[in-house]
Amino acid sequence: MRAPLIAGNWKMNGSLSLIDTFAEALSGAELPQAVTLALAVPFPYVGVARERLPQSVRLAGQTLSDQPSGAFTGEVSGAMLADVGADMVLVGHSERRTLFGEDDAAVLARVQAALGQGLTPVLCLGETLEERDAERTEAVVLGQLEAVMEALDSDERARLVLAYEPVWAIGTGRTATPEQAQQVHAAIRARLERYDGALAASMQVLYGGSMKPDNAAELLAQPDIDGGLIGGASLKVDDFLAICQSA
Ligand code: PGA
Repeated sequence: MRAPLIAGNWKMNGSLSLIDTFAEALSGAELPQAVTLALAVPFPYVGVARERLPQSVRLAGQTLSDQPSGAFTGEVSGAMLADVGADMVLVGHSERRTLFGEDDAAVLARVQAALGQGLTPVLCLGETLEERDAERTEAVVLGQLEAVMEALDSDERARLVLAYEPVWAIGTGRTATPEQAQQVHAAIRARLERYDGALAASMQVLYGGSMKPDNAAELLAQPDIDGGLIGGASLKVDDFLAICQSA
């Protein structure tokens, strides 16, 4: 019932030439039919990526302003992302939370801004190593989840995609084991049950954190893992396609 979604997060990497490399490789690629691909590229590349990549590839911003427009130098609104062809946006990535001070309230405001523009928010959740070692993983992840879900109505909740990304696994080469990831994904889904069973059954929950061609199949085979949010490996088209193949 939940189709796999493989989303690349280029972070502050990439170039026009990398978009062309992807455009060429993706237009000829034979991928499992059920899989949806998405790429979160830096703001300046969203519009070009929309023009050059196959229409079946969804485009995402990596964050957005919580404001609709105005005197906010350096910010980008959800309306602008939609205007240049994005239909998704990452919200609350751990790098935004830790490096740019986005707390739960800021994350919620951005989710609402995205929903207001018809974008699909990909809400990122995850614990630090310290929190995991203190056995606070579920408390932290479910707390981040509830901070958003509590404030939305059921139609809005149904429009989200979630991504569980343990902070200690991001860009470290240290992946959560399939069992560790599945355990948290199952806890997320159990918590969604409290809102409604249909939501819990239909919501896509992606795993992110050092997902690579050699560990993707095992992670994606877990019953509650519905796709991946891929950082480093999404910068190499062969790796990205290999992960898509294993979905
Ligand atoms: P990574 O990044 O795959 O390089 O660990 C994942 C992410 O930050 O979304």
